[in-house]
This record gives sequence, structure tokens and C-alpha cells, in this order.
Amino acid sequence: MNFLMFGAPMAGKGTLANMLAENYKLPTISMGDILRASIASGDENGVMAKSYMDKGEMVPIEVVCAMIKKRLSQDDVQNGFILDGFPRTPEQLEVFVNEKIANIDVVVNVEVPYDVLLSRVVGRRTCKSCGYIYNTNWNLGYEKCPKCGGEFGMRSDDNEETYKNRYDVYQRETLPILDYFKSEGKVVTIQSAEAPEESYKNTINALMESGISGMKEFLEG
Ligand SMILES: [Zn+2]
Repeated sequence: MNFLMFGAPMAGKGTLANMLAENYKLPTISMGDILRASIASGDENGVMAKSYMDKGEMVPIEVVCAMIKKRLSQDDVQNGFILDGFPRTPEQLEVFVNEKIANIDVVVNVEVPYDVLLSRVVGRRTCKSCGYIYNTNWNLGYEKCPKCGGEFGMRSDDNEETYKNRYDVYQRETLPILDYFKSEGKVVTIQSAEAPEESYKNTINALMESGISGMKEFLEG
């Protein structure tokens, strides 16, 4: 079963992807990971990508696609995968479809109200010593890091203005590509303002009832 995760920044789709991956033994394929791995390996695509990034330019879509194709040809994805972070613009979608980069069975669309997303952003605290991430929304009352006792700090980009910009870009450039997958009958939308465990349960229920060919059998293993 081939999944594509979809949702605004901070919607929690990465967490959901990891939970699905663990329970159904599927690899998660995140665009950021592919890019980092390719650059670290020093292969042709990685060298090319780095040359653009060093100049502060966008990595051309052909290079990105070549990286994804290479990753999707590996043995561990032959029974399915969870793709996260690509395609995210109409231009990327066009290449994704035209070049038949992957056959997506289902798009998990995680919808979270804007005010909930924003509260997650401004509530995020990161331990300055060990990197542990805490959110004041969890109401656990931590004043210091529960792992190492370190001080919490806030990332400079965890503010309303920066988040609103990211959210606007998502609305403008990424959200429209959902229409294509909707027209294919592949979108399962989850309303998710809850904790990860609750969202995960809702996701599995929605997938069970999605009517997507082979999904029920897949989930029941
Ligand atoms: Zn810590």
C-alpha cells in the first residue's frame, strides 16, 4: 500500500506517518531525508543538489525526481511506503504524474484548525542541552527538560508571523494539488486537533471506511 501524507506545517502528519510505518512495517520516505542522504552519499544527484543549495537556489525538479525515483527502486519499498513532503506544488505534481514516479494508493489529508496549529507553534519549547521537544499545550507543567534538566528555549522561527507565512504558502501552492488526488478518489481526510494517539485511531478508522481497493485487507493484515 502506497501512502502520501498531506497537511499544513505542524499538522502532525510526520508523527502519523511514523506511527503508520511502525505498525504496518512500511518505510517512510521524506523528501528532506532523501535530500540529506543523497548529499551525504556524494552521488551524482547529491553533488548536483548541493551545488544549487550552496548558491541558495532551489534544487531543480529533475534532480529531486531522480532522487525519489532512485529511492523508490530500492528493495524495502516494494511492499509499500509512506511518502511525505512531495509533491508539494502543481509543478511538482505534473512531473510526478507525467513521469509516473510512484503509484499512490491513498492520500492521508490531515486537517487541523489554524488556531490549533498556531498554538502548537508558539507552545513549542526545545531543550537547549539535549534537543528534547516539549509543548506547553500538553499541560505537563514542565519548567525544565524532563530528560536532562536543561533549560527550555524557543526557536526564533516559532512565532506567529513566520508560521503564518508558511501556512499561506501551503494554502496557495500545496493545497491545490489535493484536487488532483480527489478527482482520483484517493483522498482520506482526517480532522485532527487531538493528541497523536487519538489522531492515529481516527486515521485507521477513516482508512477502514475509505472503500479504497485493498485497504481493509491491508489494515487487517
Ligand atoms: Zn534536555
